Amino acid sequence: MTDLAALKAELEGLAIEDNPQIVRQKSRDFFWYSPILKRQLEEVTGDLVVTVRSEAEVIRVLKACYARDIPVTTRGAGTGNYGQAMPLSGGVVLNLAEMNQVLEISTGAVRAEAGAIIATIDEAARKSGQELRMHPSTSRTATIGGFIAGGSGGIGSINWGGLRDFGNILKLRVVTMEEEPRVLEMSGEDLHKVSHAYGTNGIITEVEMPLTAAYDWVDVLVGFDSFADAARFGDALANQDGLLTKEIAPIAAPLPYDYFLRHRKYLHSNQSVCAILVAPFAMDAFAAFCGRYADATVLYRSDRASEEDRKTLPPVSELTWNHTTLRGLRVDPTITYLQVLYPFPDHIRKAVQLAELFGDEVVGHLEFVRFDGKVTCFGLPVVRYTTEERLEEIMRIHEEHGCPIFNPHRYTLEEGGMKQTDEVQLAFKKEADPKGLLNPGKMIAWENPDFDFSSRQTYLFPGLAS
Ligand code: FAD
Repeated sequence: MTDLAALKAELEGLAIEDNPQIVRQKSRDFFWYSPILKRQLEEVTGDLVVTVRSEAEVIRVLKACYARDIPVTTRGAGTGNYGQAMPLSGGVVLNLAEMNQVLEISTGAVRAEAGAIIATIDEAARKSGQELRMHPSTSRTATIGGFIAGGSGGIGSINWGGLRDFGNILKLRVVTMEEEPRVLEMSGEDLHKVSHAYGTNGIITEVEMPLTAAYDWVDVLVGFDSFADAARFGDALANQDGLLTKEIAPIAAPLPYDYFLRHRKYLHSNQSVCAILVAPFAMDAFAAFCGRYADATVLYRSDRASEEDRKTLPPVSELTWNHTTLRGLRVDPTITYLQVLYPFPDHIRKAVQLAELFGDEVVGHLEFVRFDGKVTCFGLPVVRYTTEERLEEIMRIHEEHGCPIFNPHRYTLEEGGMKQTDEVQLAFKKEADPKGLLNPGKMIAWENPDFDFSSRQTYLFPGLAS
């Protein structure tokens, strides 16, 4: 009997899928945003998908896979962008989508199973006038566990910073990959061991997240004659201490008109746009603020839209973050994107300078966030892709201008992040996954401790090459 057949026999009673087409489909995420990852990961597939419904079932799967040296890659909803959830060494795809209960809501906090959909958590929290502090633009499909293990921040980060910041995750329950899996309760400093670790050193089964006051946020689109004007307006708005917003995203012409097809009747091809969420009570103040900018034209506000538009238009949050890119890819599948940090206090000057330098080849898209207490912006500019070499060169030019790239064209934690070993995550992997079976190939420090991050060489996971 093969290891997999023996595993299936041992896991009898659990939901196991081995139809190759379905397994392949459940082995993929949004890696195809990147032409480089598309080439590298197109053939990646697991061998089995095991869908678990409880922490006890997670433990059962991990124990059985540990005994047989079978890799396990966790999957929430598979909306990650960098092949994070793709099983590079095959094995089991551990599907958490059915561990989806919202367990408890109290003042200021929610406890939920890791596979709970983010929008479902918000819906439950709203009954007590609360909502999550931040969510990715994929909140209607993504899981809270996947957001913590793979995401960074999103709508709400203008007020609260990112997931990496103290206080934005309260507690996690984590199962280890050992002969006898342990269940650990993590809080405080320990959270950094597993958050944004792509599930390489433990499976999150339960989360506790902070809540804030909920509003029926008003969707607003404001038009400008230039991207620089939109960026300056966004920066000034983000710095208005009394004006409550949840999202501010300047997007350069012609992207809004070309990509936001269902909002097109409100847009003009030569206009850059700021996509904004404003608290309803702040709309009068917001209108007064706009009045100070002669070049700002309010193109759309959902509180004045027709019933029909309110029902049929996608929410403005789904025009922002990586939904901007997704809408672009639907119109022009040859584009791709970057993730750039424009550091405070030079963020606007740098964002505008780089947009002007590249012209139509790299078109601006900014997301305002609080970063270490300062308002600054990330960029997810759209790249009119030609070759891998040119894409690398574009990234290098950004770095030469003092704008770090969080490379969305790499599947490893280090290359996509700080380009150095995360000692805390590595140490915890040694303890919690001694055989290296969790999501293999994603942590270079584990696979190849001698890898030279300063070499600009791309890491190639040997398991993938074979
Ligand atoms: P998955 O893709 O299934 O998993 C992500 C990673 O976490 C994988 O490495 C997986 O193995 C691991 N993982 C999943 N669940 C667990 C668990 N319980 N325990 C341990 N490891 C686990 N991201 C943002 O941060 N902000 C955004 O605004 C944003 N916008 C996006 C827009 C679009 C259109 C797309 C396609 C992606 C976007 N993303 C964004 C990326 C992604 O959608 C989010 O990070 C999302 O929260 C991931 O959740 P998921 O359930 O799909 O996770």
